[in-house]
Amino acid sequence: MEDCIFCKILSREVPGEIVYEDDDFLGFKDISPQAPEHLLFIPKKHISSLNEYEEGDAELMGKLIFRAKSFLNKNGYQNYRFVFNCGSDAGQTVYHIHVHAMAGRKFVWPPG
Ligand code: AMP
Ligand code: ZN
Repeated sequence: MEDCIFCKILSREVPGEIVYEDDDFLGFKDISPQAPEHLLFIPKKHISSLNEYEEGDAELMGKLIFRAKSFLNKNGYQNYRFVFNCGSDAGQTVYHIHVHAMAGRKFVWPPG
């Protein structure tokens, strides 16, 4: 996708602090961290948001969660928060589906 910042990080057109990569997914540090550890995990396939997520991508999205949580576990985290923002009212600013993986502090509920 031409104007997608996350696709550009994936293709290395834009620098990113990449911490994880495999055939289907990329993990990198959020540029504006909201926790001591704040990573974003994306599928390499461009899906704009949860609204565009179709059943055919269910296995991919399941693996996204698994790979992200495995990365956190391997790095010593057992307490963390995963967030998907969908749409502007929910705070979505980048329209390439991503899960925020945040750790390293206590989180409150509701998140606001
Ligand atoms: P969201 O608001 O849920 O769409 O999340 C988008 C996230 O991407 C925000 O937390 C931003 O700080 C982060 N972000 C935007 N541009 C970049 C970038 N170039 N590298 C890393 N993270 C970014
Ligand atoms: Zn994209």
